[in-house]
Amino acid sequence: MTIRLRLTLWYTALLGITLILFSVTVYSALAANLRYQLEQSAALQARNIAAAVAQQFQGDVLVFRSRAGNVFFPQVELFASSVGAQLLDTEGNVLKRSENLGDILIPHHTETMARINAGLDDRYYYISSDGAAFLVYTVPLFVNNQLMGAVQIIQPVTTALTALTQVNRYLILGTTISIVLAAIVGAFLARRALAPIDTITETANAITRAHDLSKRIDIRDNASEVGRLAATFNAMLDRIQQLFQAQERLIGDVSHELRTPLTTIQGNIELLQRMAAAPHGNNNLSHAEVAELLQESLNEVKAESERMNKMISDLLLLAQADSGALQIQMAPVEMDTLLLDVYRQTRRLVEHYKGRPDALEVRLGSEDQALVRGDRERLRQVLINLAENAVKYTPEGGVITFSLENREGWVRISVSDTGIGISEEQQAAIFERFYRTDKARSREMGGSGLGLSIAQRIAQAHNGKITVVSQLNQGSTFTLWLPEWQEAPSEAPINLKNTVIAGT
Ligand code: ADP
Repeated sequence: MTIRLRLTLWYTALLGITLILFSVTVYSALAANLRYQLEQSAALQARNIAAAVAQQFQGDVLVFRSRAGNVFFPQVELFASSVGAQLLDTEGNVLKRSENLGDILIPHHTETMARINAGLDDRYYYISSDGAAFLVYTVPLFVNNQLMGAVQIIQPVTTALTALTQVNRYLILGTTISIVLAAIVGAFLARRALAPIDTITETANAITRAHDLSKRIDIRDNASEVGRLAATFNAMLDRIQQLFQAQERLIGDVSHELRTPLTTIQGNIELLQRMAAAPHGNNNLSHAEVAELLQESLNEVKAESERMNKMISDLLLLAQADSGALQIQMAPVEMDTLLLDVYRQTRRLVEHYKGRPDALEVRLGSEDQALVRGDRERLRQVLINLAENAVKYTPEGGVITFSLENREGWVRISVSDTGIGISEEQQAAIFERFYRTDKARSREMGGSGLGLSIAQRIAQAHNGKITVVSQLNQGSTFTLWLPEWQEAPSEAPINLKNTVIAGT
């Protein structure tokens, strides 16, 4: 059953029950009140007549019976209303009737006479054969404390009962119309209130059918619960779309990045195959030359395989960081000692990338003492990455400066170079996966564009960050910011899951 139908039914049922209870109460109260009024007035009249009749007799039962036909019914005559009166003896025989009773005959009612003989009032409602209704009210008639008979008031109540029936009809009609209206209005209101949910369903369906994540729900009423649901749904779609696009970009980038080394490996394998087919073919190469060519080819295959291996490890690390599977062990780390290590290692990097150790000058700037809470090896990885980039993107003769400042609760480790620099537009993008300002140059240096993404991830996992200040052809300064650690060490592992990196 739909929520709309359920709401409508509930609404209608509640209103229906309320109205029915209200109608029944009103009708019962009205009917009881009406009967009470009628009976009270009949009783009063009957007693008045009984008193008047009693005054007209002093004698005994026999005198009463013989002269009863001549008694005078003062009240009845006075009002000349439709209310009639009868004088009965103790057996219920009619001794006198008021003239206005005409031909209305009230049959003998044994129960009434039983009550009268017991000295009690009696009342009942009599419906004549032609449908006219009467209230028959009988009181005992005492003369000198002796029961002589009874005075009976016969009051037509058809009009009163008809009015009551009319009220009943109106109440039933009103209640029915109200319930039908309530059902219609309820259905309309439920439809209106739930319309945005239909829109949400339709949008979700449209997205599923068309594979189009760009669709959004048109929100008209931000304040309502459903409006907020729609807004949340839209926000969720934004996020999913972003993730989806990032995923697509990543798959595109990964396949592209893996294709290049694979092409090189394939080319070399084909060369090796040709050489294997005709080791001394028509190429006029000496043994030594063939051996050298083989070696070159194999070296290239090895280098490209290593590149691929490194790229896959880096991607795995990023994927683990995304899924929260990557954990790092926190412990106190003396950053000044670590920086000194990296400083020494950078000299070897210069030799590796530039061919000789003095191709770049590596300096140590300010070196405060600083303790942070973190994973020493991961932090070393970050600093080596920054140092390696500085070496790679600084031409010979340049200067690389390391410095460590500990101020206002932040430990800042900077790696400055006098290299090629990064334009302002590209500075945010370099932290994205696979982003490189110059692909060819980066590749030449063995880079894949993942280093800074990983470094930023690790920094964020330490509640820190990496910032860059750079000017094209002037140089760059990368700074790793880490919160200074002052308290007692704790070995609790921390999780990379909730960290967010620019561009991921
Ligand atoms: P890569 O493996 O290409 O070095 P990174 O993620 O470490 O990947 O760096 C991304 C890009 O940022 C590099 O390709 C380069 O264009 C730019 N970059 C990083 N460090 C520097 C630097 N010190 N000077 C100039 N450009 C840099």
